[in-house]
This record gives sequence, C-alpha cells and structure tokens, in this order.
Amino acid sequence: MASSDALVTLLKDLVAIDSTSVRTNLPVLEVLEPRLQALGFRCQRQRYADEAGVEKANLLATLGAGLPEVALVGHTDCVPFDAAWREALTLTERDDRLYGRGACDTKAFVACAVTAAAAVKDRLRKPVLLCFTADEELGCFGAKKLVEGNLGHARRAIIGEPTQLTPIRANKGYCLAEVEVLGQEGHSAYPDTGRSAIAGAARLIARLDAHGRGPLREQLDRDFLPAHGTLNVGMVSGGRAKNVIPGACRFTLEWRPLPAQPVDALLEVLRGFIAEAQGQEPGFSATVRPLRLDRGFDTAPDADLVKALERLSGKRAETVSFGTEGPQLQTLGAVPVVFGPGDIRVAHQTGEFVPRAELLRAQAVLEAALLEFAG
Ligand SMILES: [Zn+2]
Repeated sequence: MASSDALVTLLKDLVAIDSTSVRTNLPVLEVLEPRLQALGFRCQRQRYADEAGVEKANLLATLGAGLPEVALVGHTDCVPFDAAWREALTLTERDDRLYGRGACDTKAFVACAVTAAAAVKDRLRKPVLLCFTADEELGCFGAKKLVEGNLGHARRAIIGEPTQLTPIRANKGYCLAEVEVLGQEGHSAYPDTGRSAIAGAARLIARLDAHGRGPLREQLDRDFLPAHGTLNVGMVSGGRAKNVIPGACRFTLEWRPLPAQPVDALLEVLRGFIAEAQGQEPGFSATVRPLRLDRGFDTAPDADLVKALERLSGKRAETVSFGTEGPQLQTLGAVPVVFGPGDIRVAHQTGEFVPRAELLRAQAVLEAALLEFAG
C-alpha cells in the first residue's frame, strides 16, 4: 500500500492548480498523465474547445487490454473561489482536515484514484480505466463529450463526488429552461395602451408553482428525498421603469425529474399552460428555450458494484437529488455508482475541506474495489 504521504502530496499538487471551470484543465492533466504513464497506463486525451474557445480535455488512462472491468471517474474542474480565501490553492491541514478549493470536490477522489491504482497495479490481471473529465461543474460537458466520442467504456464506473464514502446508486435528472413572456409597453397611467409581460409571467409562474405542489408530487420513488420530482423558478427579470407597462419578462425554470420520468415531461406541461394562456388572453406570447435536459440514473440496489461498495465502506447505498456524471457513464455501458470522500455540503464553499481519515479510507476502498473486479 502506498503511503498516505503520496496521497496528500498529490492532492496538494492538484489543489495548487486553479482549475476553475472557466480555465483550461490541461495543467491538471500535466500532473496526472506522467504519473499514470509511469505506472504503465496508456493515456489518451480527448481534446475540445469549450463555448468560450478555451482548450479542455478528458484524460483516459487504461491498464490492460479489452473492456475495462471498472473505471474510476473524477472531474478535474472546480467551482470558482472567493479571492479572499487565502488557502484556496494551498492545501492546508488543521484538526485532521485538509482545506482548499477542490480538496473535497473532487480532487480528493482524483488523488485517491491515482494513488490506489499505483498501490495495486501489479496485482491487477484484468483491464481498468482511470478517466478524468473536464467541465463537470458547468453541466457534465466533459462527460457528454465522452458520449459523443464514444470513449470511456467500462463494465462498472465508480464516479467520484463527495458522498462521505456512501455509495450513491441513483440521482435525479437535471433540467433547465429559460422562458420569456412578451407583452406590450405603454404608459402605466393608461393600462389599456399596453399588456404587462410581468403579469403574464406571474400567472404562468403561479400555474407552475401549483403544478409543483400538486400533480408533480403524484409520481413517487421512495428511494429519493423528496420522493417526487421538483421544480423551481429561480430567477425572474423584467420591466424597464416603474411607470412603464413591462414589455418583456424572463424567468428560469429548473426541474429535477425522477430517473423514471421523461426529462421533457415538464416542458410539455409548460407548453400546455402557455397554450391555455394564449386561449384566455388575446396577444399572450411566451417562448421557451430549453438549456439542459439531463436525465438521472438508477443502478439496481443489488448490482455487484453497489454490493461491493456497501461492504467495503460499511455504508448502505443511498440516492441523491443532485446531478452527477452517472447518466453519461451509464450511456457508455457502465453500471455507475457515485462514491467519494468529503461532504457535498461543504463543497462549493469557502473553507471546503476533506477529513484526512476519510481521504485515506477512500483510497483503501478504491484499492479493494480494483482488486475485487480486476484482480
Ligand atoms: Zn463534483
């Protein structure tokens, strides 16, 4: 078994790189790739330019030939950090906790994956894959590139996210749309000279809100908390001045379907509400721009990877309501389970940390899982 020094040193090196999603993730790969090559992994980069033209890449490192029995998948990007957080890029240990941006989400898992592979590689007889993705925090864009490129196949995938070492066998989908309601501007002293887009949007939002509290709660999956799909109108903007009848109002509609629910079901509900409003209010006009339609995933509770990670971690598998790269890995043919050190509740915050003991434990579990499926 590799020493914990190697693990913490690698995490320190990874945290030192500012890999906020707007930046290139290539410097992270520059740290990982030579180490993996030195261990005998064949490395392949899937390059792409993001929407802003910034160079990104997924790194695929394979040991052995044939379809990998298990893949360890971790994302290399992080959410932005507050400039005042002085430890953000300097891994700092205090009270058995390691602080820094990405210390928990998800560089801890990435460091564990590489260190675990190093520790057991000589005992692996079957192929394994280590896969490090870009742009997870922006919407799993790196993992979606894998699907587009038909890369990253494996029988099973352990996807790193801070789950406090609890195996996560399902997550809800994540969908987002922008809705724009158009009215007609006019002088507010003469309401009949215009048509308020804000009032129209408010009526639409009220319908959606009622749907979220009513019909959306009818289909249940008791493995989730809450057990139903959810929706949220998170941002509203509109209007020009206090004395102008507003001509336009925009809002975001986010919804998280259960794995069994079609991702576009709520879109159809919304379009139905718009059609009704058009029938009731002459001139009512609204456009819908879907931005994300990511389904969830649902791995069977008795899948061998779920059972193994439950046994190795000593924790029963659970589900989560946030998105992960599980659906993409599932599309590529793997049975996915999400697992990693750290707590999602401290991820994305100033003061993000991973407990040292959990970090070491994660490496041990990954070593055992590699040996169980590829030994
Ligand atoms: Zn993450």
